[in-house]
Amino acid sequence: MISNPATKYRQFPVIALSDRQWPNKVIDRAPRFLSSDLRDGNQALIEPMSIEKKLRMFDLLVECGFKEIEIAFPSASETEFKFVRRLIEENRVPDDVVLQVLTQAREDLIVRTFESLKGCKQAIVHVYNATSPVFRQVVFNKSKEEIKALAVHGATLIKEEAKKYPETDWSFQYSPEIFSDTELDFAIEVCEAVCDVWQPSPQKKVILNLPATVEMSTPNVYADQIEYFCRHISRRESVVISIHVHNDRGCAVAATELAIMAGGDRVEGCLFGHGERTGNVDLITIALNLYTQGIDPTLDFTKMNKIVREVEHCTQLPVHPRHPYAGELVFTAFSGSHQDAIKKGLSQRKKDIESNNGAYWQVPYLPIDPIDLDRSYEAVIRVNSQSGKGGVAYLLEQDHGIEMPRRLQIEFSRIAQKEADTTGKELTSGVLYSIFEAAYFNAPKHVELLQHKMLGEDDEGNTTIHAIFKTNNQTIEVETTGNGPIAAFVKAINQSLNLDIDVVDYNEHARSQGAQASAVSYIEMQVGNRTLFGAGTHVNSSKSSYLAIMSALNRAIDKNWISLNH
Ligand SMILES: [Zn+2]
Repeated sequence: MISNPATKYRQFPVIALSDRQWPNKVIDRAPRFLSSDLRDGNQALIEPMSIEKKLRMFDLLVECGFKEIEIAFPSASETEFKFVRRLIEENRVPDDVVLQVLTQAREDLIVRTFESLKGCKQAIVHVYNATSPVFRQVVFNKSKEEIKALAVHGATLIKEEAKKYPETDWSFQYSPEIFSDTELDFAIEVCEAVCDVWQPSPQKKVILNLPATVEMSTPNVYADQIEYFCRHISRRESVVISIHVHNDRGCAVAATELAIMAGGDRVEGCLFGHGERTGNVDLITIALNLYTQGIDPTLDFTKMNKIVREVEHCTQLPVHPRHPYAGELVFTAFSGSHQDAIKKGLSQRKKDIESNNGAYWQVPYLPIDPIDLDRSYEAVIRVNSQSGKGGVAYLLEQDHGIEMPRRLQIEFSRIAQKEADTTGKELTSGVLYSIFEAAYFNAPKHVELLQHKMLGEDDEGNTTIHAIFKTNNQTIEVETTGNGPIAAFVKAINQSLNLDIDVVDYNEHARSQGAQASAVSYIEMQVGNRTLFGAGTHVNSSKSSYLAIMSALNRAIDKNWISLNH
């Protein structure tokens, strides 16, 4: 960094809008949402999604309730084109979902874009060109008139091309790219010229998308830009003002919310804020912010765990553990005073509901009820010790060689807490280990593994095993094949006991306590819509993983999550 940044960077100029109205506005309903995960989000991935992953993402977006989905830049690559065709030809688009595609204002690209959409019921064609001074002068070397002419040319081509496909219900969208850095009056002039071509009406509106392609100012300045635009654009009742904010300054959510107050009708963004550089605005945060104000966001994120896993799978990017509403730690309280306040809040709420004494959510430190997102509130205890040792996880690792995965740490801390509460014992490292041992390694044996043997493995990694299980009233022998020993073993359990359990996470490490080294395995098991852990230890590492699965299975039976009556 340099000592005087003023010699290199300038302050973004304020907008002359002394009678701005937006600060007095209150958001009282959801905007229209468009997901750009398959376009803006996908474009910005280290490894762009394969068609299979795109299909999964599309289905997920539909499941979340998106009615407008920007699926591709079809003229940009063969994969993008094929994906659009596949959605249409395989009838994968629900009737109430509108596809959107992006194109530049060039004739060959526009022709190809319409070809990709042939046979589609309804679609939005989104055309853009850069309008800001830096792009005009440095990138394209074009005058304002030439830039405007380019937009008009694109708009005209699109209007003409659309006539060739009368079976589709077309809508048009124009973006003055880098709107955030374009002179406002010029942005309006270009949009007016585009609207002159498209001739929108209140019945057939045109979408004007005003991107903060790069976020350059405090959110209030962007809101001023939007209010100024809304006030000065003619045919306001015939245009939809769309907000598309990137997160360069880390304020995309705030900028989007203020822009809605300033007149924005529609918001474009991505799940968990994916997209170029720092990403687009995070639609999950925007939607759940509305929800916690009592406003129906029109999107459904109840299955948050599944959404996180699917998006991580498709994008190969992790969701931050502290991501608003979604991160694995956002409903976890570490501090004792927070835990205490939350506990009081939750029990007061229970009383209020029982006595019909109003049921508005007001629990300290929790802006949303985790149950609404299929999550639960978790309290993590830490063992306080004068000697300066850390928490439960630290003690088990240092003194007993147990390296719990993070979600298991959370699960186990509750077991340890309960034990401490009932016995009043101090949780020394030895006591903690015996609690761990009793809960996981020596979980009650409702089902026992009597024998197991690996029979073979083929070139594709398919493993065949033979196993014998014993329950209270029977002994069951099975032979199953699965993709690897763990999959084969889970299949053996499901088949023997007529269950539908799944392993969602697996960790293993070596432990050298005592004379010989052994393996410790941890399994996170999905049972219905819940998950729990099991742990096993053995000198043989496959045996240790089987024992971990048995531990999880027996713990689930013990909790009555699984019933063995069949
Ligand atoms: Zn963007």
